[in-house]
Amino acid sequence: MPYDLLLKNLNTSVANLKGIGPKTSKLFEKLCGERIIDLLLTTPRIYKKRLHAIKLSEIYIKKEIAIKATVVKHLPQFNPKMPYRVLCNCNDEEFELIFFRGYKKYLNNILPVGQTKIICGKLERFSNKYQIIHPETISSVEDLPFLHGLLGVYSLTRGLTMPFYRKIIKQTLEYLFDIPEWIEKDIIEEYNWKSWKESVLSIHRPKNLEEKKVIKMRDRLAFDEALSHQIKLFVLKEKIKKNKCNKIETNQSIKKEIISKLNFELTNSQEKVLKEIENDLYQDHPMQRLLQGDVGSGKTIVALISMLNVTKKEFQTALMVPTEILAIQHFNYFKNLLKNSKIKIVLLTSKIKKKEKKNILKEIEEGKVDIIIGTHALFQDKIKYKNLSYVIIDEQHRFGVHQKFQLTSKGNNPHILAMTATPIPRTLALTMYGNMDISKITELPSNRKEIKTLSVSKKKISQIILDLKNIVENNYNIFWICPLIEESENLDLIAAEKRFKSLKKIYKEKVGIIHGRMDTKKKKTIINKFRKKEVQILVSTTIIEVGIDVPSATVIIIEESDRFGLSQLHQLRGRVGRSDISSTCILIYNDKNINELGKKRIEIIKKNKDGFFIAEEDLKLRGFGEILGTKQTGYQLFKILDPFYDSKLMEIASQEARKIIKKKEKLSKEEKEIINNLLKIYNHNSSLKYISIA
Ligand code: ADP
Ligand code: MG
Repeated sequence: MPYDLLLKNLNTSVANLKGIGPKTSKLFEKLCGERIIDLLLTTPRIYKKRLHAIKLSEIYIKKEIAIKATVVKHLPQFNPKMPYRVLCNCNDEEFELIFFRGYKKYLNNILPVGQTKIICGKLERFSNKYQIIHPETISSVEDLPFLHGLLGVYSLTRGLTMPFYRKIIKQTLEYLFDIPEWIEKDIIEEYNWKSWKESVLSIHRPKNLEEKKVIKMRDRLAFDEALSHQIKLFVLKEKIKKNKCNKIETNQSIKKEIISKLNFELTNSQEKVLKEIENDLYQDHPMQRLLQGDVGSGKTIVALISMLNVTKKEFQTALMVPTEILAIQHFNYFKNLLKNSKIKIVLLTSKIKKKEKKNILKEIEEGKVDIIIGTHALFQDKIKYKNLSYVIIDEQHRFGVHQKFQLTSKGNNPHILAMTATPIPRTLALTMYGNMDISKITELPSNRKEIKTLSVSKKKISQIILDLKNIVENNYNIFWICPLIEESENLDLIAAEKRFKSLKKIYKEKVGIIHGRMDTKKKKTIINKFRKKEVQILVSTTIIEVGIDVPSATVIIIEESDRFGLSQLHQLRGRVGRSDISSTCILIYNDKNINELGKKRIEIIKKNKDGFFIAEEDLKLRGFGEILGTKQTGYQLFKILDPFYDSKLMEIASQEARKIIKKKEKLSKEEKEIINNLLKIYNHNSSLKYISIA
């Protein structure tokens, strides 16, 4: 098959794989993305070694094995408190499967007498008999090849099991093929990298667990992603350079009016960045500016004031945020400040009801609204703007470059301001965002008190719960964050609901809960109640991590805090300490299972408040597991690359991309195709129309 066809296959939907129906494909989509290639580029979190035991033997004791065995009989269970036991036979030798919580019906179903199965688990010996307690997997014989060796352990979601996931990965690996190399030879040699195909293959099925070798495979793929990203940035930059845009004059009167409604004065830093933004808006080529400012430094009001300039004429301006909750919050805040003005503002998210949405879209198209606030729904193809001239992206590290391409294709070459709390060094920002100009808010509002950060053992949780009484009586608010459970969003939810119920016993209607699966209206209601203090304790999963601003919240409690990354903890802590009242952040940990890394993280966060320093420490603490599982670090726009960790690779990729773009005109058709292959692999189908080199 010619490789463009093979490439096309890689770009098709996961639904094309055997054994994946519409429901399962949604699950994979959520975890990895919608294309087969997305599955291949989602690396395991860790690896696990499992041996194939041909027969029972001493040598396997305490080891993870996969063994082919026939079910002999289900042993009678005289008392339901006794473990449930199933007798099996392998090569004429018997052993038992032990289930402490065994549902007879279920076990009869998966282990029918007389059938041969592959049983996976840790082999034990008890009073001279072999046994496996709670086998991890019971599978059919054909699955044997996926059940032993070095196995990738992947992040899962409810509805997917690990053996099934691995089986699907095995299928996707068959889609791999040799593709002409896009990385320059000298770089490949310097780093001793393998080909793209081999790297993808071995990241899923390494031959041995030499960590250095696995990291090498991962690094190569990270470099690919960086290179693709850098080329995209250059392509984007070239396009933008040629653009003319609407020149926007500063609107002093409305600005004064809004500022007079605030109960604070802008900090010098806020004033300074506002000036920088306004200068850019007054040019006839579009602004490309990154606004950095630590959590709580007051980026939102800067965004609003700068947007007001645009509304003087018939121009439209939009604010895009990563979560619906945040969109609602900004919308309410702006709407309130603009109450008596002529400026019309709307909220647009994907969850808004069809009829209402139709109306909103019409108003946008006819230019009846000035400010549009929403999630990425703002830039779907069907939305037409009358005269979009200025776009702000809040928490910009949560969005992909292709979304920026979509943006620039809307409206009249809008000015773009990207806001972020991620404290990355200037040089990295330059390579990561492709020479965007950078503004920095360097100070917090002067009224801020330090946030007291404590760590407390889980054993004392009931005392903490009682202590909240004080806070509630003093009319302040409390965030209660429930543990992050990597494998599954559902488990997050269960933990949150359990905590909600236990708090409710004491604090009754003063407790509320919020999570990602609630609909818009419910979310809106609960956040409003929290603001109005009808609800004072808000139990939440990590969805409130970014952006949420409720200044009367003075306490945040984070359960199993050692499971969170440092930057995430810093973000979460930033939900309190947003006013002139002293605040507290309580990090709860479990004595029993906290590891060294978790302890170190808690110490760092307790002693430090500077986001920049914390991010650097985060980097230093990363071990093998953290390097592979970059997903936790918050840069959702990349699959493998972690710009912070990979800053050196990023720089080299940037130089390479520059070279490619420079000699673009001289490249042969074949050479161009090689580059475009790379872009096709690392880009979403829908964005390809914006991204290619020709
Ligand atoms: P972030 O930069 O994290 O997005 P926000 O814009 O949400 O921060 O601001 C945090 C809080 O600080 C908000 O409640 C906001 O009203 C308040 N705030 C913003 N600027 C100032 C200021 N100059 N003085 C006092 N409070 C301010
Ligand atoms: Mg914010």
